[in-house]
Amino acid sequence: LAACRTLWELIERRAALTPRAPALIQAADDPGDDRTLTFGGLRERCERVAAGLYERGVRPGTVVAWQLPTRIETAVLSFALARLGAVQSPVIPFYRDREVGFALRESKAEFFAVPGVWRGHDHTEMARRLGARSVFTAYDELPDGDPGVLPEPPRDGTAVRWIYWTSGTTSDPKGVLHTDRSLLAGGACLAHALKPSPKDVGSMAFPFAHIAGPDYTVMLLLYGFPAVMFERFALPDALDGYRRHGVTVAGGSTAFYSMFLAEQRKDPARPLVPTLRLLAGGGAPKPPELYHAVVRELGCALTHGYGMTEVPMITMGSPDDTAEHLATTEGRPPAGMEIRVTDAAGRELPTGEDGEVRLRGEAVCQGYLDAAATREAFDADGFLRTGDLGHVLASGHLVLTGRAKDVIIRKGENISAKEVEDLLHGHPAVADVAVIGLPDPTRGERVCAVVERAPHTPDLTLAGATAHLRAAGLSAHKLPEQLELVDELPRNDALRKILKYKLRQRYAT
Ligand code: ATP
Ligand code: MG
Repeated sequence: LAACRTLWELIERRAALTPRAPALIQAADDPGDDRTLTFGGLRERCERVAAGLYERGVRPGTVVAWQLPTRIETAVLSFALARLGAVQSPVIPFYRDREVGFALRESKAEFFAVPGVWRGHDHTEMARRLGARSVFTAYDELPDGDPGVLPEPPRDGTAVRWIYWTSGTTSDPKGVLHTDRSLLAGGACLAHALKPSPKDVGSMAFPFAHIAGPDYTVMLLLYGFPAVMFERFALPDALDGYRRHGVTVAGGSTAFYSMFLAEQRKDPARPLVPTLRLLAGGGAPKPPELYHAVVRELGCALTHGYGMTEVPMITMGSPDDTAEHLATTEGRPPAGMEIRVTDAAGRELPTGEDGEVRLRGEAVCQGYLDAAATREAFDADGFLRTGDLGHVLASGHLVLTGRAKDVIIRKGENISAKEVEDLLHGHPAVADVAVIGLPDPTRGERVCAVVERAPHTPDLTLAGATAHLRAAGLSAHKLPEQLELVDELPRNDALRKILKYKLRQRYAT
């Protein structure tokens, strides 16, 4: 299966191998409403929907945007578009006018699929307001047609067929161009690291519209095991679904591990999900402390990976790695992913030295919708500049130390926000923390720690934080000079990533 060139080819091959095996399981609020689609059913439904889309005028290369929740129907629509060879642009279902308008304009979408009224919000009305073209609903009912009308499936896995949107953490979101080949490579990397078996049951705690959606599905298709989907993912409600379907591998992001842990702490003696063997995720920094807490308290393995919209899977921890590597690194890259660490001028640094991480390989995107952004993003050797900082250990494991835009420069000294954050995470009064640089008239920038309060503990003070960081050995020039307490840090809707730019705006006075 690893030789498949297109996503559709992979779906067909998997459907031929294990047609009756479950592929996608929709966990509903009421167990009686749970639904399952097999791999054979997936292929069949995709073909009918592809035919329905074709009859409406969708052709190979037509740009179709969709903003749909995490449902079996959404996966079917997405893979039907892949069957047709259309260009699709998934949009996170919680996004509103600003982000959706941006996505529709930038992608020049000719069709837009919406859920109608979903969670009290009228998506059809929003689409009209934004001047979207050819709006159709794709919730319970999808376009349907006779597969006989369909042209041949696409054979070329290297054509741009996907436009994903970055999180907009550092600036406006960017439209990222992907091919079937790059998504297949990302999924293969994930599968290679996690080594799932057909007996596993996965789960998606992230929106299917996120790039992790196809990434994860590729892994299911390669190994022939199912994943549980949640239209409204929330803990503790989702735990029933996990238990009902015997989830063994739970996928999510860093915020998800913390939520899981918080649930476990309510009743430490009773396993939350008895079948769970592995939490696997990525997409945001993971403090080593969190790794140890998960392994100790949840009693399952945790593997964490490094990915970005531009390169869905770069490195991933593997259950075979040592605890030390799993706690402190992002794992190793798969064969075919080249990592180069460079100084600011782009010169390659020796192994172990910290610099900008640059990437070349099959899973790397083709670039951005904006041609100028693409030129800027790739260096002369064709490596993508990630804007992330890190180094590679002699063992090949990647250590991320921060984002280039997240380095605080105080009196000319570079301070890694991540280093301070990791240490603060060890304090019991800290549920989560973001360390930011704020403009300062005398020092250039000053270090500010914004702490999300942990429940049932006295509030952290600046003096308390200082004592904790000093005891942990942090040099004096990196100590925060300002501490802010919040009940909740601002996060994005897709992976619950912390939005530091909002904090910089809030506290920059
Ligand atoms: P934008 O590019 O619009 O500013 P963004 O980079 O946050 O937003 P994404 O593509 O969703 O948008 O996120 C990718 C980034 O997330 C990476 O470049 C990296 O900075 C961070 N990241 C991903 N995985 C990890 C990880 N395991 N540890 C630390 N940071 C990570
Ligand atoms: Mg980015």
